Amino acid sequence: MGFKTRPRRSTEGEAIMRLLIVEDEIHLAEALTQILRKNHYSVDAVHDGQSGLDNALSGIYDLLLLDIMLPGMDGISILKSIRAEGIATPVILLTAKGEVDDKIAGLDHGADDYVAKPFNTGELLARIRAALRRKGEVVPDDSLKYGDIELHPSSLKLSCQGKELKLILKESELLELLMTRKSAATSKEQIIEKLWGFDSEVEHNNVEVYISFLRKKLAFLQSAVKINTIRGVGYVLEANV
Ligand code: CA
Repeated sequence: MGFKTRPRRSTEGEAIMRLLIVEDEIHLAEALTQILRKNHYSVDAVHDGQSGLDNALSGIYDLLLLDIMLPGMDGISILKSIRAEGIATPVILLTAKGEVDDKIAGLDHGADDYVAKPFNTGELLARIRAALRRKGEVVPDDSLKYGDIELHPSSLKLSCQGKELKLILKESELLELLMTRKSAATSKEQIIEKLWGFDSEVEHNNVEVYISFLRKKLAFLQSAVKINTIRGVGYVLEANV
């Protein structure tokens, strides 16, 4: 059984991303559905392998959240079948403890990511955003350049003149946002909306914390790029070259 929603548009007119949850723990599937709808995704949920496969094969989804142990057909078999049909929809596996081998098999068979149950909602939403972003990228090397730095969002690596370090996901997302906006200032509200979602209760000082982390990492790399604070407006990058 499943429940459907009609495609909607966000208040800003962007197309709503459509997600399919395949999860036989009904309470978990329903909780996930609510969380994702609250975060402006259109969500369908099904609770067995065959329905999961049938729905996924429709090719209408932007992303699949796929449990591994399912009645009827397991998640890895669903993944193999849809990839064999040439469906490239990003897949995030929902893995339980003790499913390490399945997780590895899943990644080998073209899953994009996995999240271990029980998971943190913020973490799952971040993984979903990252997978959806990767989907939109056509070139395999997704690096962004600004001044003397280069960011690789898919591997979370930041490099500067031969030196390299790894960022945590939020730092990478924040820097990517600032790099994409170039010389336009980005407000704390825009950052919160992009990194945590519209309805999040994240406070402004969370943004300040990640900005300070990023500044330290840029300094560590001895980059000439600075994150300037424009009082009352937000943040903007400066290349200083
Ligand atoms: Ca299960």
